[in-house]
Amino acid sequence: MSRRRFTVNVVPVLLVLAAFFVDVEAAPRLDYRMKVADAENHLFHLTIEATGVDRPTLDISLPAWTPGWYTIRPYAANLVRLQAHVGGRRLPLRAIDKQTYRIETGGARALTIEYDYYANNLAVNGAELTPRRAFFVGTNIFFYIPGHTTDTPSTLTFEIPADWRVAIGLKRGSGKHVYEARSFDQLVDAPAILGDFDQFETTALGKPIRIVVDPKGQVSEEAAARLRQYVSRVIESQGRMFGGLPYDEYWVLYVVGGRGGGALEHENSTNVMLGSMPADPRGVVGVTSHEHFHAWNVKRIRPAGLLPYDYSREQYIRELWVAEGITSYYGDLHARRAGLLTRDEYLNGLAGTIRALQSNEARNWVSVSDASTVTWLTYGGGSSYGRFTINYYIKGELLGLLLDLEIRGATANRLSLDDAMRALYADFAQKGRGYTNEDLEAIVSRLSGRSFKEFFAKYVTGTEELDYNSALRHAGLRIVDGRIVELDGATPAQLSLRRAWLGE
Ligand SMILES: [Zn+2]
Repeated sequence: MSRRRFTVNVVPVLLVLAAFFVDVEAAPRLDYRMKVADAENHLFHLTIEATGVDRPTLDISLPAWTPGWYTIRPYAANLVRLQAHVGGRRLPLRAIDKQTYRIETGGARALTIEYDYYANNLAVNGAELTPRRAFFVGTNIFFYIPGHTTDTPSTLTFEIPADWRVAIGLKRGSGKHVYEARSFDQLVDAPAILGDFDQFETTALGKPIRIVVDPKGQVSEEAAARLRQYVSRVIESQGRMFGGLPYDEYWVLYVVGGRGGGALEHENSTNVMLGSMPADPRGVVGVTSHEHFHAWNVKRIRPAGLLPYDYSREQYIRELWVAEGITSYYGDLHARRAGLLTRDEYLNGLAGTIRALQSNEARNWVSVSDASTVTWLTYGGGSSYGRFTINYYIKGELLGLLLDLEIRGATANRLSLDDAMRALYADFAQKGRGYTNEDLEAIVSRLSGRSFKEFFAKYVTGTEELDYNSALRHAGLRIVDGRIVELDGATPAQLSLRRAWLGE
């Protein structure tokens, strides 16, 4: 082999190898320490140890939003005294956009990032530190390395007052108050309460369910027993639908005292914000059921446009009517199937949802697919803008109802929307794929043996009036003056379809 030939051959090989190594290049590792530093002034102190630094400059970003709460927030505005250093020697650092900083590493393989974080926003997508407790969603507070949100394991260590405990859905690491995350995605998908709270344990299908209520002392012993039972029953109903629960343990965090309510879903937890804890725990079943159903629908069964999460900007998706609306549909349906709503309560709730959509003129102008796409303008409410739109939770819930009853009607009740959700889970979520409106249309058409192209064109991307009665008829029901009533002369087949649908 001549030298020349050797050179010609080896250069492409080296280029291919270089491309390979660029592709799989590991990010520096970030390990996080979070200290309750100055609770009077709402200040956490954060120390991030970056190791394996292999580059002359290192970019770090704070998220601009929290998955599940589709609105851009200025989390980085709460940074105080941000610095990077090696053993106390400050490194040059400058802002390159509103949430990203560039550190000149000077060739250091390891460096420390330190800052205080001002946490004074007790909100579903927020962070608050007071002398009594802390609540936070990690998107507010933790830096990531752009491009590395799915492949970056880390530890999170808390330094908290001696009489405080930690409630967080992360795996325990070794050491006091040390937790492990397999990726930045997981790290910031685990909201936490730090403080002295009530914790009630139960199980569902053999898995531990940990219910936290903060502040402590709001739930009587008798109410706690019912709360444990209700949460367990509704989770078991959902788990039976999917053939098991998709996590090792699940945390329900009820945070009382926030301005405004709301709740947020995570892969193995939820944070539910309440103005006050209802005396009857049935009052939290609906929201808990909805949030838990998200453990599949949106956390694992993910619209393609949310894979992977991009924390730096809006991610436009047309499928929030599925992610939220069908979750609302199943949230209440599982409360019914678990016996926590009577049939009348359930049907009256559906009728109220129908009235809510039918009293909104925007239903004739704005499709549910478009309402999903532009949600970033109005998410979370509180704005005088964006009044002329539809609520895709509401219309999506009703589309869930129509799809369920139409599939049941088309298959003599052999198949249902449950099968479509299981197909989304098996064929998309468990294969690491996101789905689109078109994928769901294809699944529903295949299951029912008839095309749903027109249904999607009229009701999902279009604005035609929903045909409630043709769907309700399959269950021996109809709508009259905004109420759902018995269909005269309902057949045994219709009645048996209704019992199967409602889990009776
Ligand atoms: Zn939701």
